[in-house]
Amino acid sequence: MKIVRTRSEYESLQLGHDIGFVPTMGALHRGHGSLVERCRRECETVVVSIFVNPTQFNDPKDLEHYPRTELQDVALLEAAGVDVLFAPTVEVIYPEPDTRQFDFGPIEQVMEGASRPGHFNGVAQVVSRFFDIVKPAKAYFGEKDYQQLAIIRQMVDMLHVPVEIMGCEIVRDADGLALSSRNMLLNEQQRAAAPHIYRVLSEMSIRGGDVTALEELAAERINENEHLRVEYVTIADSKTLQKSENLEKSRIFAAVRCGKIRLIDNVECK
Ligand code: AMP
Repeated sequence: MKIVRTRSEYESLQLGHDIGFVPTMGALHRGHGSLVERCRRECETVVVSIFVNPTQFNDPKDLEHYPRTELQDVALLEAAGVDVLFAPTVEVIYPEPDTRQFDFGPIEQVMEGASRPGHFNGVAQVVSRFFDIVKPAKAYFGEKDYQQLAIIRQMVDMLHVPVEIMGCEIVRDADGLALSSRNMLLNEQQRAAAPHIYRVLSEMSIRGGDVTALEELAAERINENEHLRVEYVTIADSKTLQKSENLEKSRIFAAVRCGKIRLIDNVECK
């Protein structure tokens, strides 16, 4: 695996056209691994990036504490048969500040967009910059960050980027907790409490009935655990992400504080 850190190093590799790209913030786990495996199966050349993007953190403490485990990440990516790791510094990605303001409309005004002002603007800035350098034919994103996936689909439409966006299923631990780099920041009791989020979302996703009542019941159930505090539970249309009238073509989304750590998850309604 080649490791490159600058745009010119990357460009000098002359990777050809069939490039599959998996952007990450590192602290890699099996969730990232599943994206990489699929990319490996579907593309001639696999490029993974590791970059903790400052412009998408609305909380400076969150950025400061974000886990960084590059040595282990390199070993995992080598074992997965990745061709190129692109791990640039902030100066490489932002030689000058990115002042672009994207307008994604209603899709960014709910859930994560509402809870984390500026977050999706930062995501769009960094992903568009990476697409410009990496020039992938396909790029792989997890449904764990379902709203992010929708924003990126809209961004490539708006900017006419010639890349196919591939959505990948959520990978979970055996107890149901969605894998996340932030899970390693949970203490033992918090880690034991966290799977309760998925249990409740799953139960609600097959329950049926009034949407608002279900959202309220889910929030109440999650909050019954002393380590968990709901920020939102929303049942939304899988495409528009606007609040659903009924459970058809919908997903149930949650953001929950577990101590200082903020966890998100979502489940398709059946
Ligand atoms: P991150 O490093 O957290 O920015 O994530 C990089 C990519 O991996 C994003 O597209 C995430 O949606 C995806 N990802 C993170 N966790 C999971 C998971 N548990 N299952 C599937 N994809 C994931």
